[in-house]
Amino acid sequence: MSHYVDNQRIEQVAAELLPIWTAPYCEERVMQYIAAFGEKLRLPVEHDRHGNIIITCRKGKPKGRIAFAAHMDHPGFEVEGVWEDRVHARWGGGVPPEYFQGAKVAFHAGKHTVRGVITEVTMRPDGKRVDKVTISVDGWARTGDTGMWDVTVYERQGDLIVSRVVDDLAGCAAQLLALEYLSKQRAAAEMWAIFTRAEEVGFVGAAQLVKTRRLPKKLPIVSIESSMALPNAEIGKGPVVRLGDRMTMFNQAVIDLLEQSAQQLAKEDPSFAWQRRVMDGGACEATLFNSFGYKAGGISLPLGNYHNVDREKKTIAPEYIHFNDLARCVDLVIRASLNAAQSEVSLDRLKASLLEGVEEKAANLTRRRARSHWKDLA
Ligand SMILES: [Zn+2]
Repeated sequence: MSHYVDNQRIEQVAAELLPIWTAPYCEERVMQYIAAFGEKLRLPVEHDRHGNIIITCRKGKPKGRIAFAAHMDHPGFEVEGVWEDRVHARWGGGVPPEYFQGAKVAFHAGKHTVRGVITEVTMRPDGKRVDKVTISVDGWARTGDTGMWDVTVYERQGDLIVSRVVDDLAGCAAQLLALEYLSKQRAAAEMWAIFTRAEEVGFVGAAQLVKTRRLPKKLPIVSIESSMALPNAEIGKGPVVRLGDRMTMFNQAVIDLLEQSAQQLAKEDPSFAWQRRVMDGGACEATLFNSFGYKAGGISLPLGNYHNVDREKKTIAPEYIHFNDLARCVDLVIRASLNAAQSEVSLDRLKASLLEGVEEKAANLTRRRARSHWKDLA
């Protein structure tokens, strides 16, 4: 069996983390959970001044290292002002404007949840994206409160994890579970787990990490995301080695490491399913890292109701993933970290496999050429 972490533990971490309130710039409760998780493992937990978190796990004498990145926010609201039973809130994230009017929103107001309905929508100057909303509420929200769509917070429905947030707290969960395994096993590896802020409004946290040069230039980085399910990237058919996103194609050496790791796992356990494709339903932080010269790649969990949009029913709904896709993603992160410890992430393995047996066959090139019989070809 290639399953490193048992299902019960994966379920437990998902059930703790996914229900936490979050929105762009309002990630503090997720940050608190992640920091406590790392501290409990006695791993170094670093907070940069923008609130991104880096937890590193280094054991033994690894020859190479690898980083994974997931974001702590999700499309959502932040209360900017309260006027009697109306709340004015700023919106952040990619959801088409037609889904807002009349949609239900919940706010985390201290110890209780305040519910309301969107009555007014203000667009950005570009006329394409929502900027602010007015919500008629049934209680007392306060300026600064976090708002999210009022849908199922978290539920296991058979094989599916149905949740207000999958993107990207499932990615955060995968990173934490991999850190836990690697640190407890004391496996020779160096894994960096990067947790970023405000991805949904334009990679804001990750951009600060790049600008402040916090990440070593040679550090390969794998973005872990939940991304819109597509043909050949289907829910329940395993994690997707992401070859690229809507904006860029990813680094071949990183793709090769992930594919090699997935192939090994599938060889050891034929039930290990994985997929590969360009996930061009959206863009992810790998594009940012890629553009700034890092070797970047990605893993995706095929996501239903991407960004809480149920396109069939034309309504706001919880997101969902297949439990096994998450579980096998954890395996893939762990195996890739172990493999990355063997040598630096490079194309050497690919080159060696391309040259395998080529020398013997190359003798045929010279043999036939030496005869020179081609001169008399009719
Ligand atoms: Zn997203």
